[in-house]
Amino acid sequence: MIREPGGRAQYVDSCKTKGKPVRILLIEDHARLAGFIRKGLKAAQFDVDLAAKGSDALEDFECVRYDVVILDLGLPDIDGLELLNQLRAKDKAIPVLILTSRVQLADKIGGLNAGADDYLTKPFAMEELIARLHALLRRPYATLGKTLRAGNIELDVVAREAHLEGCDRPLPFSRRELSVLEQLMRRGGKVAPKHLMEQSLYGAGEDLSSNSVEVLVHRVRKKLTDSGANATIHTVRGIGYLMTTDEE
Ligand code: CA
Repeated sequence: MIREPGGRAQYVDSCKTKGKPVRILLIEDHARLAGFIRKGLKAAQFDVDLAAKGSDALEDFECVRYDVVILDLGLPDIDGLELLNQLRAKDKAIPVLILTSRVQLADKIGGLNAGADDYLTKPFAMEELIARLHALLRRPYATLGKTLRAGNIELDVVAREAHLEGCDRPLPFSRRELSVLEQLMRRGGKVAPKHLMEQSLYGAGEDLSSNSVEVLVHRVRKKLTDSGANATIHTVRGIGYLMTTDEE
């Protein structure tokens, strides 16, 4: 989609390029951030249309079939969650990743619960956004939701609670330990690079010492073992951490 200032949107068929690029609708009103995200996504071979307003996004959504939507919650003309409802009314299955500041997240947790497939808090690492988009696109639509699963562990990413399958009592993780667990689970059996885990924890406004991730992983590992979880965290020396389940 090319949008001339003040002009009508013009559809450009990206399928003319080789293969079928994944089409992303990026809804973000902060021009510099939007430009940065678009550049990063294009470098990762995604096809990106940018909408700076909710009304533009709805118009784009009418004429292009997108594979995934990235949605900023703070938009100039419409509340991001209201826009999410409207997009969902048009396409129930479209994966939506919300970009939000932590303050907004606290305010909107009920709404996120209702309709987003994933969220990322600002600031974030481009590499993490890309990893999450790939994860969203890999998941069959039927399993999209707010719960991550690995072995017998279930993590509700909105309620910020982890528990074992069939057991209502939450596992005794601190907020930062849950963040570490979430990153390992999101990787779905692939290595979570330590530097990305650090960035994500720093992004949450945490003050970390250099071995914080190691300490957190150690605690998470112990709590999983003590609780009878059937997942194991392996250290991949010099790179990061990997979670595997007994089923693998
Ligand atoms: Ca905004």
